[in-house]
Amino acid sequence: MIQMKNVYKKYPNGIVALNGMNVEIEQGEFVYVVGPSGAGKSTFIKMMYREERPTSGQMLVDGIDIATLKNKKVPLLRRQIGVVFQDFKLLPRLNVYENVAFALEVIEESPSKIRERVMKVLDMVGLKHKARMFPTELSGGEQQRVSIARSIVNRPKVVIADEPTGNLDPETSLDIMNLFEQINASGTTILMATHNREIVNTLRHRVIAIEGGLIVRDVAGGDYGYEA
Ligand code: ADP
Ligand code: ADP
Repeated sequence: MIQMKNVYKKYPNGIVALNGMNVEIEQGEFVYVVGPSGAGKSTFIKMMYREERPTSGQMLVDGIDIATLKNKKVPLLRRQIGVVFQDFKLLPRLNVYENVAFALEVIEESPSKIRERVMKVLDMVGLKHKARMFPTELSGGEQQRVSIARSIVNRPKVVIADEPTGNLDPETSLDIMNLFEQINASGTTILMATHNREIVNTLRHRVIAIEGGLIVRDVAGGDYGYEA
């Protein structure tokens, strides 16, 4: 599903964020990405949906060559990847339903099918009854649920999450994690950068630790491995 060979990323200011990274992630895996601030986690994650481009090296996501992908093809890649952020990034002028429907790639589906699809994912995240509300009317946990609904509405093979529980209290974080577990159980690959020691140590999955732009640890069912 995801392959990186010798991926190197140097920002225009000269900072080397990824220093020759090699990794393979199979379809259906759940992977935590951990490491200290500035280690390169976000850069690693941003490569996946081509928010950043490798300076050199080879990288494939679902068979798509990220390094050479033309800018005009980036929307095609993003249709196959769901992305969830720490700060939700919902569109404030659109209600819950519209935020999810907006992300849905309306190719050949009839309006009634689209409606059914959107309501189904809202139901899955427990927000069907709040479809007409606006982001500012929702709690942080609810906003993150909307963003998760938006991330899966296109049925992507992989969902990428950058600190999805970073703004949430522990109880809400666990609710959100349960949603990711459910999504993963249906076969979707999950790649999640997190500082949440508690969660990584409780809901065990593969742990990739990044330091100084390199993978320093890669353990199936591993622990967080850093002090809180
Ligand atoms: P993490 O997510 O682990 O905190 P990042 O990937 O954000 O790490 O950052 C890795 C390194 O790259 C840091 O030294 C950071 O300052 C630098 N960096 C991140 N984004 C940029 C950017 N857009 N331009 C220049 N340097 C950046
Ligand atoms: P259908 O019955 O049309 O196959 P699905 O059951 O696949 O519909 O769900 C419709 C939408 O909700 C899809 O976008 C799907 O990705 C998402 N979805 C529903 N349940 C899950 C789940 N457990 N994990 C991941 N995605 C889900």
